[in-house]
Amino acid sequence: MSIGENVTRVLERVDRACHRAGRRRDHVRLIAVSKTFPPESIREAWQAGLRAFGENRVQEAAPKISVLSDLNITWHLIGHLQSNKARRARELFHCIHSVDSVHIAQKLHQASPGAADPMPVLLEVNLGQEESKSGLSEDEAPQAAEEVGRLSNLDLRGLMAIPPLFDNPEQSRPFFRHLRELASQIEALRLPNVSMRELSMGMSHDFEVAIEEGATIVRVGTAIFGTRD
Ligand SMILES: *Cc1c(COP(=O)(O)O)cnc(C)c1O
Repeated sequence: MSIGENVTRVLERVDRACHRAGRRRDHVRLIAVSKTFPPESIREAWQAGLRAFGENRVQEAAPKISVLSDLNITWHLIGHLQSNKARRARELFHCIHSVDSVHIAQKLHQASPGAADPMPVLLEVNLGQEESKSGLSEDEAPQAAEEVGRLSNLDLRGLMAIPPLFDNPEQSRPFFRHLRELASQIEALRLPNVSMRELSMGMSHDFEVAIEEGATIVRVGTAIFGTRD
């Protein structure tokens, strides 16, 4: 199937999941994860109507973003960010989902002195406490939210998580629910300059479950672009 057809099918699945969950369709955004795929594939997905794309590495994304600068795209960084790339990330991306330490948040803050618009960021939480994944532990998240809230060049909007990979998407459900609960707990602290309105969760194999559990952003790669090498 073509990328265009895949986009149509994924959008239908998003619609149905919203309907099932009794959620408004305009409260769920689809981000097409284009890592490892060339600019032509991104262009195809854009032609099929998508406007938000996710990349997980600054270095890989930079030339693609440049080649596609004729398209109105919002770019999301969804992979771990090294502090020496914070400045570049600040320039290239509209939103960073993968703020996994206060340190990297400070780097992003410093990379944008006096910027007119604070940069939208999400805190990444490592729900499964997996060694292989970055992210704050749940216990650290509230304190980190408070500290990131103090960084005036950043706009903290919510949480992101990548649960452990299961064969059955239903097994992701408790993790998604947990992230939503954690966001509510942090929201209840009423920290200055901290909002928890975005939940970035759900990938190709489990985005429908994520929508049922409150995702406001789903990050879908394989179901749109095909299998990665
Ligand atoms: C690759 C990636 C995705 C997309 O995964 P698929 O299973 O291909 O949909 C989503 N989120 C993050 C953080 C990723 O690195």
